[in-house]
Amino acid sequence: MSILLTVPSFLVTILPPFRGSAAVAQRTVNPLVVGSNPTPGAMKDRTGKDRSVFYDILLISMKQNPNLSEDQKRVMFSGGTEAPFTGAYVNEHAKGMYTCANCGAELFSSDAKFDSGTGWPSFDEPANLANVELKEDRSLDTVRTEVICKNCGAHLGHLFDDGPTKTGKRYCINSCSLELKKQS
Ligand SMILES: [Zn+2]
Repeated sequence: MSILLTVPSFLVTILPPFRGSAAVAQRTVNPLVVGSNPTPGAMKDRTGKDRSVFYDILLISMKQNPNLSEDQKRVMFSGGTEAPFTGAYVNEHAKGMYTCANCGAELFSSDAKFDSGTGWPSFDEPANLANVELKEDRSLDTVRTEVICKNCGAHLGHLFDDGPTKTGKRYCINSCSLELKKQS
């Protein structure tokens, strides 16, 4: 708990609320937190400001499913991206509901899935808008819209306005952030 006491007050105001004591308790045993921030000052923003504490606290504020693979942790909790055409659901055409691989929230129906040719599963609308959060992402020297699971805070992918269907939207989602519950 000692790190919580060292958080500057300005960070407290912008961090999401903790989602229960279980998430906080994970900190000492969660390898992702250790691996993502191995040394003080290792994570700096564009201005050179040390953001280590910010990222550390951000990560431990999320409840992580202990069954996630290392690749899933990297994508869902470090904002990573799986390599194109490598995900399990790129060419998946089975009917069902794509849920969050971390928390199980219902995210995208197979009815909204289309072949975008990009190498990532693509959807033209969420199954339930209440389960998806959109956030401006200014990483990689560009402005994109990040798609997040509203229930657990996990990174899912990005949203683009070049979809070919009537919604005009392309939710470009990492396969490993999803789990397809097939229709029986
Ligand atoms: Zn989730």
